Amino acid sequence: MEAESINILAIIAHPDDLTFFSAGSIAKWAEQGHNISTICVTSGNLGTLRTDLKLDDVAKMREKELKAANDILGVKETIMLGYPDGGFIDGAKLREELSYYVRKLRADRVVTFDPWVKYEVHPDHVVVGRMAAEAGAFAAFPLLYPDQIKDRGVKPYSCSEIWLMGLLGHQPNYFVDISSTFDKKIDAALKFEATLTLIADLFAPGEDIDPANVTEEQLKKISKYAKSLLRSMAANIGRKAELKAAEAFYVQKVLPGHFDNFIQLMNEMLGNPPEKPKIA
Ligand SMILES: [Zn+2]
Repeated sequence: MEAESINILAIIAHPDDLTFFSAGSIAKWAEQGHNISTICVTSGNLGTLRTDLKLDDVAKMREKELKAANDILGVKETIMLGYPDGGFIDGAKLREELSYYVRKLRADRVVTFDPWVKYEVHPDHVVVGRMAAEAGAFAAFPLLYPDQIKDRGVKPYSCSEIWLMGLLGHQPNYFVDISSTFDKKIDAALKFEATLTLIADLFAPGEDIDPANVTEEQLKKISKYAKSLLRSMAANIGRKAELKAAEAFYVQKVLPGHFDNFIQLMNEMLGNPPEKPKIA
């Protein structure tokens, strides 16, 4: 258990992003007494296979689902920025907005997508991860976005670390044991109806489910699929750290304007053995 309570800010692109990659860790940190907030950058209004809904209906539905999921995880505040899903996000504008929130919420830890992974096609994941990491690393500079300091009542803030989530890419350097919060992760995941039908479409193609008319029986079946998918994800990641269930991250400490990975690189050049992944 970490002694001091810190402010943790999860910055995601779509309402269901947290569930898959870091919900178990979020729930654990909330139980440990840390303050957790979430910023969801887009409304997630493309996130359905249904053809009977309008973009606004989907946006409303998904915001409700995210809030219900976040209640389960112990997230105190959920902020929706309302960018269109799957669009071309103006990175400069988003970085300014996210810097404001890093300052306002005094975020010590930013959790977001790894924007440097290979073969990530989703522009929202890439742009949000990149701008969230930059906002965390630059919010300490007082001459950056001075209007926020002058007119909007925030002060520069040094975020200490960025936790990059996702399954692809970097060798993780941090594993979080989620055995005790895995059930909360499942309960939160089951709040996302559209995601569940998407999972059924991807992983149970024979099911032939009409996303607009999912029967009670089918919903039960899909929920079972989702559970076993999340369970095997957690078990597979856990195996790498000898844990029953885990989530993996690539964590970087932040110096204003930089990550501290150059220390790691220098150590490698000196021939020192690489750091072992941390487990919490
Ligand atoms: Zn997403």
